[in-house]
Amino acid sequence: MTEENKIIFPDIDELSKKLLEERGVKIMDIAKLVYFLQKDYHPELKIEDCLEHVNGVLAKREVQNAVITGIQIDKLAENGQLEEPLLSIIQTDEGLYGVDEILAFSIVNVYGSIGFTNYGYIDKIKPGILKYLNDKSSGKVNTFLDDIVGAIAAAAASRLAHRLANTE
Ligand code: MG
Repeated sequence: MTEENKIIFPDIDELSKKLLEERGVKIMDIAKLVYFLQKDYHPELKIEDCLEHVNGVLAKREVQNAVITGIQIDKLAENGQLEEPLLSIIQTDEGLYGVDEILAFSIVNVYGSIGFTNYGYIDKIKPGILKYLNDKSSGKVNTFLDDIVGAIAAAAASRLAHRLANTE
């Protein structure tokens, strides 16, 4: 990568983590979701293991791309910088929209089909940080972010399950 390209494309790895933090999501919050998904299957599971697998998922470029794209759209909607009708659709998290979920699937896809089951489950229950992100009274727009966070947790749970299956 040339120096000039580095300015246009800053470190996406760092940027995606920074954006998550900026939007109120800590890596530990996602690790807690992984723990929630996997604790019944692996009684010895530690939160540190969950954290390691979340970091593993976040190291993937396709995941970073989904994070920076989704958060960018949420921020533009929050600041009223999209055109209608898309602006209202995203601001109100309109039920039939679904593109937020499609983007999240690009994350879930990375670790195979178990991810989809985990994603569907966590999206329905909305534990921990997902409950916070879905709180519409905050004035924040997290239409894309809630699906992205759920998808990272689901992918990390699948990564963990695959690793444990190989070593046990
Ligand atoms: Mg959503």
